[in-house]
Amino acid sequence: MRAPTLFDRIIQGELPSHRVYEDDLVVAFLDIAPQSRGHLLVVPRESAATMAELSDESAAAIGRVLPRLCRAAAIASGSPLSNILQNNGRGAGQAVPHVHFHVIPRTGPRGKPFSGLETDWRPGSLGGAEGQRIAEHIRIALEAEAEAPAGGDA
Ligand code: AMP
Repeated sequence: MRAPTLFDRIIQGELPSHRVYEDDLVVAFLDIAPQSRGHLLVVPRESAATMAELSDESAAAIGRVLPRLCRAAAIASGSPLSNILQNNGRGAGQAVPHVHFHVIPRTGPRGKPFSGLETDWRPGSLGGAEGQRIAEHIRIALEAEAEAPAGGDA
């Protein structure tokens, strides 16, 4: 059993938060350093560090509530635009080692001054043969997991 994370402590009510939603498996609250108005964090009660470690049950519970929270954040921000961000691992920008989805409303059109997630999207290229190799690699990994589930409920 690992030490409680910051988000465990928020979920337990030991630390304050602006909680907007909770059910048996999921809690959502405002990010303390928001990128935009209505920036939410959607967090499983299950204390998994990364998505790869999260159970299918908690992942499904998050997926079920994300559309609803996006709609509510859109109303609070006054913008239908948003980004959902989920970081896995410190090297990928994850500061809090407890799975969380950011719902980040984006106000203002692309390319104009805006409030929201700043992205630096650098498209690569994918050749046909390389695509086949990578897809095959992923299919094999999925088959292996189906035979011997690594985590979750699969
Ligand atoms: P990440 O970098 O994806 O791990 O994001 C962690 C997020 O947690 C950041 O956006 C922080 O602003 C947010 N955060 C840190 N402490 C708190 C807190 N006490 N309450 C709400 N959000 C927090």
